[in-house]
Amino acid sequence: MAIYAHPDDAEFGMAGTVAKWVKAGVEFTYCMVTNGASGSQDPEMTRARLREIRMSEQREAARILGVKNVVFLEFEDGYLEPTIDVRRAVARQIRIHRPDVIFTMDPTTRYAGSYVNHPDHIAAAEVVLRSINPDASTRQMLPELWQNEKLEPHKPKALFLMSLGGKSDAIIDISSVVETKIKALLAHGSQIEPEAVEFVRGWMREAGKAKGYRYAEAFKVLNFEEENARPRERKAPRARVRRASRSTTPSRRGRPSRRGRSTG
Ligand SMILES: [Zn+2]
Repeated sequence: MAIYAHPDDAEFGMAGTVAKWVKAGVEFTYCMVTNGASGSQDPEMTRARLREIRMSEQREAARILGVKNVVFLEFEDGYLEPTIDVRRAVARQIRIHRPDVIFTMDPTTRYAGSYVNHPDHIAAAEVVLRSINPDASTRQMLPELWQNEKLEPHKPKALFLMSLGGKSDAIIDISSVVETKIKALLAHGSQIEPEAVEFVRGWMREAGKAKGYRYAEAFKVLNFEEENARPRERKAPRARVRRASRSTTPSRRGRPSRRGRSTG
């Protein structure tokens, strides 16, 4: 699941990863928190028209990449704050779609080089972090979600934060799908001119350098599986003792504990 402030944010940062993972059978859901209505300098444009244009551009980009679901929360572009209403709306989508992995931006990125990060990016990413703990994952947080809407708490296995320079934990080789990414990016015709994709290619080349990939996308990764497994690790020695004594018994004894750990 990719949760971002604006239609086009996912295409800039992770469309290559989306295209590659979709090919591998991964199901993606996009969740755009704002309506994109501020993204124009054209005095003839209106916010009402632009929001329609940007939602249809996002749907087209998602179609190109093979994204299964596209959700628009339609908060006002440019005015986003991590209020409890936004937090509830995002937590609701996470509880509905129950993703294994969530992608967003890094809310600690205030600027990078001479780029001042958009406050909506920071707010949307902040809301995603709050959804990990506590909004989407904790039963007594926003209890109306399970009491009224039957949406059980959910915590993903990992969070991928789009990396704007600095150290990355995951550098994903997207050389084989880079043209699909460019095509999806250009679906945002109100936001990007064909000539401007060169600078995006530049970022992707830069991201690939460390690994020798032609084009890459880089992420910081928070892995929650280790954390989810931690309380059960205390039981591991007992499980090992059982497994060690298994030599004279049929081979199934060790498995239940292993299965328990992976689903927990
Ligand atoms: Zn944006």
